[in-house]
Amino acid sequence: MRAGAEALMQERDRLNRLDADIGDGDHGANMARGFAAAVERLNGAGDALAPADAMRSVGITLLSKVGGAAGPLYGSFFIGAAGALRDRSADAVDAAAWADALDAAVAGVQRRGKAQAGDKTMLDALFPARDALRAAVGDSVTLADALAASAEAADAGAEATVPLLARKGRASYLGERSIGHQDPGATSSALLLHALAQTWKRPSQ
Ligand code: ADP
Ligand code: MG
Repeated sequence: MRAGAEALMQERDRLNRLDADIGDGDHGANMARGFAAAVERLNGAGDALAPADAMRSVGITLLSKVGGAAGPLYGSFFIGAAGALRDRSADAVDAAAWADALDAAVAGVQRRGKAQAGDKTMLDALFPARDALRAAVGDSVTLADALAASAEAADAGAEATVPLLARKGRASYLGERSIGHQDPGATSSALLLHALAQTWKRPSQ
């Protein structure tokens, strides 16, 4: 979460610019503010928090602190993940558990936002990331490699939103004019999954 907050802070302006192209220009600010609040709350709770409780805390913070579409959608993402990680200690969150968590997180976004693949939303990064993580777990690669493959798939998915016509959210008001721009939410999803993969690669983990 800390690495994610840092990445969002660093990329805030780029995410705002992407959102200015096809929305209202606030996605970077929304995400950076929401994650800063989420991390502050986690820091206050101490390091003994179980994974599911940490995920739920982040989800609730994003739901309550981030306006716009992304707050409730990312809130549903983390609350979905929390459900899948219920009763697991940090040591028990292995590659299969992460794959289950990402499944449930993506299902949470889809339940809330009702978008389909190709609608030019964060799901166009999250679906391929989820599928890549599941496939990597099936190939029994290390968790670090599985998460890296998932983040790469999210990048490719985010880039592939450029030629799409937006069918959900604010960008959909633009119709054809949404074509030719990368979706900001797909971009922030890829950023977060990279932060996760990077964190797992660190020797201390
Ligand atoms: P707002 O559009 O309210 O200003 P943000 O700018 O923070 O909110 O977030 C915009 C992002 O939200 C989009 O780039 C898109 O990825 C995502 N989004 C919008 N609507 C949906 C939806 N129904 N399902 C999934 N993602 C969505
Ligand atoms: Mg916006």
